[in-house]
Amino acid sequence: MPDENTPPDPEYKSFIQKIMDEDIKAGLTRIVTRFPPEPNGYLHIGHAKSIHLNFSLAKMYAGVCHLRFDDTNPSKESNEFINSLRESLSWLGYDPKEHIYYASSYFEKMYEFAEYFIKEGLAYVDSQSIDEIRIQRGTLTQAGTESVFRTQDIDTNLKNFRNMRNGLFPDGSHVLRLKIDMTSPNINMRDPVIYRIKHSTHHKVGNSWCIYPLYDYAHCISDAIEGITHSLCTLEFQDHRPLYDWILAHLKKAGFFSQLPRQIEFSRLNVTHCVTSKRKLQQLVTQKIVDGWDDPRLPTLHGLRRRGFTPESIKDFCQRIGITKANNWVEYSYLEECLREQLNRESQRRIAIIDPIRVIITNYPPHIKEEVCHASNHPLVESMGQREAFFGRNIFIEKSDFMLNPSPGFFRLSIGKMVRLRYAYIIMCDEVMCDEHGNPVTLLCRYLKDTKSGHGSDVKVKGNIHWLNANHVLPAEVRLYDHLFCADQPVDDLENLQINKDSLIVCKGLVERALGSSIQEERFQFERLGYFVADRHNHIPNKKLCFNRIVSLKSSKDKRAVST
Ligand code: ATP
Ligand code: MG
Repeated sequence: MPDENTPPDPEYKSFIQKIMDEDIKAGLTRIVTRFPPEPNGYLHIGHAKSIHLNFSLAKMYAGVCHLRFDDTNPSKESNEFINSLRESLSWLGYDPKEHIYYASSYFEKMYEFAEYFIKEGLAYVDSQSIDEIRIQRGTLTQAGTESVFRTQDIDTNLKNFRNMRNGLFPDGSHVLRLKIDMTSPNINMRDPVIYRIKHSTHHKVGNSWCIYPLYDYAHCISDAIEGITHSLCTLEFQDHRPLYDWILAHLKKAGFFSQLPRQIEFSRLNVTHCVTSKRKLQQLVTQKIVDGWDDPRLPTLHGLRRRGFTPESIKDFCQRIGITKANNWVEYSYLEECLREQLNRESQRRIAIIDPIRVIITNYPPHIKEEVCHASNHPLVESMGQREAFFGRNIFIEKSDFMLNPSPGFFRLSIGKMVRLRYAYIIMCDEVMCDEHGNPVTLLCRYLKDTKSGHGSDVKVKGNIHWLNANHVLPAEVRLYDHLFCADQPVDDLENLQINKDSLIVCKGLVERALGSSIQEERFQFERLGYFVADRHNHIPNKKLCFNRIVSLKSSKDKRAVST
């Protein structure tokens, strides 16, 4: 597993590139890959790995990558998902151009091939219930049992299949199965069901079909029709490959195709503390455990975007984790690390206080309203310029920067102690005013006149804290996010997973004026607090300001990946 300290090796080739190289050597002229999402949910970080893989290989080999909607299950699919998917893809910066396809466009061809299999005695209509068929499939250790319909004559099969298509039968009454081998050690080869009856409206073809092909049948045929050369999928499809090859080999023999795709498996991406199953993500949304598909705690691309991730950081992450055949879990902090570098480089610095406490500078001359201090927008990039901060009598600091009874090693403010206010002066705390519960509400401090930043001062202090002038602040909602799930590897069903109750903390904060004109999705470093993004939905410049914490300034973990 490479980490961020390992420079990319320009000579390095993944096992998939090696296969492609060999295929090219053997005469293949153009690489065609595809990304085939089922439009039954929003895309997530796992999909980003697949998208990055397919699109970047196509680019590397001057080939093309198709976007294909694998829309063969009408009951779960919708245009909302299609649109969200296209939006995510384009946000990531991938453009399939004219190569956008739908498996549903091939329904007629798939049907034609099914009739071909029936006529060849290689498929039959089974009129048993789905449960009976499931029981007869056997287990890993036990061979399957042949259905009584297996020997049904070709004409009856053809007639029944046509009647299935023509809507004469209710859902579940018949299925079409391939006739392969009920004793095969590979369960997928035990006369798999390839068509079922489903009287429901399809988002694209409407009511023109009431039988729908199953994934294993539809996928390989879609690949072959589109001239895909390398069909890259996740490891759980390895055992389906013999079926993929069986179907296509027969269709090639019959002359329907001349060139066949090959299926290659790679490991699925799992990120710690995240679920990347669309079913579970859907549950989180419908049960309102999160605030929609783009909740910033979700690993959906919409969620990551709203959280403040950049497309570059996600692609960088996909590049760094690489492609292998070993299933593993990648630490969420590694994903954050890919972003932090970019944010540190590019984002302007601002000041926000998420939990303010008032400070009165008691010795500030009453005739001076305030004085200007200069804060740089980026400590290392001078061209980003400076902005003004205003030191005066009434300021705010972070409550956590003061301790009534300081613990050893606490170098910030406490009674009788000094601290530097960034870009301004050193102050000394003389007195604390508390509420009736004994909680500090106002600090009475003095400033040391000769200690202004940048003017050379002999007084040295260990603490250096941020602050805001009370006359120059705007209220803002600041949201602090953390992992949604407590478990490192949340693989259980949702009901058994513990939700982190602190995964969202909403603070009523104060921010400097300059942030009043920030626009949606603008990213900043809030000094000492982390990187924040102006929320896509709730952030209204000069009205309700709303910032989401993207990541903290430093990683809390050094560990990068744990293998299973
Ligand atoms: P789910 O099981 O959550 O429904 P899926 O794999 O069925 O996910 P699809 O929409 O069919 O979702 O996926 C489209 C493509 O993305 C497939 O090629 C699939 O292999 C790939 N993909 C999905 N999840 C991951 C993942 N976690 N890591 C890598 N690739 C993935
Ligand atoms: Mg799928």
